[in-house]
Order: sequence, then C-alpha cells, then structure tokens
Amino acid sequence: MSLEEYEEKRNFEKTPEPQGTRGGKGRMYVIQKHNASHLHYDLRLEKDGVLKSWALPKEPPLTPGVRRLAVQTEDHPVAYAAFQGVIPKGEYGAGTVEIWDSGTYSKEKWEEREIIVDLDGEKLRGLYCLIAFKSNKNWLFFKKK
Ligand code: MN
Repeated sequence: MSLEEYEEKRNFEKTPEPQGTRGGKGRMYVIQKHNASHLHYDLRLEKDGVLKSWALPKEPPLTPGVRRLAVQTEDHPVAYAAFQGVIPKGEYGAGTVEIWDSGTYSKEKWEEREIIVDLDGEKLRGLYCLIAFKSNKNWLFFKKK
C-alpha cells in the first residue's frame, strides 16, 4: 500500500489538499461530498495507515435495501479525513470538498473482495457491506441492518 498514486495525481503547490504520510492505527470513517465535474461522495476508511477510498456517484444509503455503486480510488493519506476546501480549477478533482459524515468504524470482516464494517457516524450507523464485482474497481455499497 502506498500513497504514490495519490501524490502523482496532485500538484501540492497548487492544491490545498494535504500531502500527508502514512501512519496511525485508528479506525476513522469519513464521507466527503465532492462537487467536482460530477457531484459524488468519497467514502474513506482508515486501514493500515492510509484511507482506503471509494467514490459513490449517488448519495450514500441511509437504510437497508438501497445498493450504491462504489468505485475504488487511490489510497489517501490519513490527514485527508479532515480536509474541506476548494481544489482549484485545472487541478485533479477541481471543485469543493466538504465533510458529509464522519466518525469511526469497527471491522466485522475485511477481505480482498468483501468488507463488512460497523459504522459509527452521524448519518451512517450500523452494519455496512462493500462487495467487489469480479474483476474491476467497482464495488457495491449497502446497509446490511
Ligand atoms: Mn472525489
């Protein structure tokens, strides 16, 4: 796991996003509403010193029975969980980022293609699943109960 892809995509002289390093053993959970070229929601879960990340094209599900596409994206530094601000025009992900929900999670199951977490946020609470499709970066994200 590395932050290479994260760093390669960004010019830190131009974007206010954190450069950050790996570290920490916490269990942070955050969803950032990212009003970029397409409005989406970035789900991030702290694991092994980085934020594992997925982009949801639609609003995250508050109740069971709603399945959302979640496209896996590059790992982000842990410091990104606190980031809100404006990524300047012309930069990667240009647009506004605001924290939509945040808290912590506990791990029920974390395998390569299946993750079950108990989210303790303000909006999202309870058991949530991430299930990967066969051979790409697309996952399904839904509330279990
Ligand atoms: Mn994004």
